[in-house]
Amino acid sequence: MGREYRVVTLTANSNYRLLAEQARRFKPELVVLSGGDDNIDLLIREIGDRSIRVEAGEEALTLAALWPSTDIVLMAVVGFSGFRPTVAALKAGRRIALANKESLVVGGELLSNEIPGFRELIVPVDSEHAALFQCLQGEDPSGIARLILTASGGPFRGMNRSQLKRVTPEEALRHPRWRMGPKITIDSATLMNKGFEVLEARWLFDVGLDQIEVIVHPQSMVHSLVEFVDGSVKAQIAPPDMRIPIQYALTYPARKASSFPKVDLVTQSWGFERPDMEKFPALEYAYRAGKIGGTMPACLNAANEVVVDYFLSGKIKFLEMAGIINKIMDIHKIIKSPSEEDIVNADRWARERTLNICKAGDR
Ligand code: MG
Repeated sequence: MGREYRVVTLTANSNYRLLAEQARRFKPELVVLSGGDDNIDLLIREIGDRSIRVEAGEEALTLAALWPSTDIVLMAVVGFSGFRPTVAALKAGRRIALANKESLVVGGELLSNEIPGFRELIVPVDSEHAALFQCLQGEDPSGIARLILTASGGPFRGMNRSQLKRVTPEEALRHPRWRMGPKITIDSATLMNKGFEVLEARWLFDVGLDQIEVIVHPQSMVHSLVEFVDGSVKAQIAPPDMRIPIQYALTYPARKASSFPKVDLVTQSWGFERPDMEKFPALEYAYRAGKIGGTMPACLNAANEVVVDYFLSGKIKFLEMAGIINKIMDIHKIIKSPSEEDIVNADRWARERTLNICKAGDR
């Protein structure tokens, strides 16, 4: 794909060394260090090319998302930080290869109300949604009966409650199938990631929550399935390698040959089982937040970001995360049909409240 694509902007949160290395290699027009300007002088020095514009701060993500010479915005920012730049890019009619699910979790309702055509602009990168998107090519939406999202089940599948009580961040970070960043790996261990994916699917494909199901498939070869009204089911199958959905999001609607690993149908057997919502309540919270709507999904997401941070730093236990999220959802005052500001405020409110609860315990 080398010659057909040119990188025009690059962003990173705080890893200025890697950003500088990539900037020297790809010679973009703009680079952004969204986490702040602490290392901006080091970044500029390491890039060593004054023709490349360098910006810092979270607002600069929106500058990057709206950069005029961009054809496709690959939105892979982690967490709520992806919300504003994603909305801005969609408002500007940009095509987005979307890896940031949180922007749809918190902003799906807003986008549906304010930019009805937003779905046409998104090609999903999240492997499950990339699978659903491919299964739905050429299909009429009225033919959809159910979307079935597969989940690997994470590193703690099959553990009982007393085992789950004792799991450490290190164990949670050892995902059996995918190598990912720490936030999403913990979300995979709690199944919150799958809960977010349910909400993401709801907005991406405009289906009811009652039409979306989750099934555990530990081998991560079937990335999701669509059941149609006639009883036919289509699945997308590929080895668990993110380069495949990323490439498709960039080449869509075309497919390009790749040297990525190929499926071996013979030597591996595959299984499917129901998720355990009692041991992993995050999935149920996500459905509940989705049904309530308004600012509740933003509240869920913010509380989750805070408890994941606290768990990663060893200050709260694995099973405490769900309890705290549940408390915050219980006391949240929902705003219906929220504006962008309402969502930002709900996010801030939930973050502060969750921080207070985490600190109060001081465990
Ligand atoms: Mg996924």
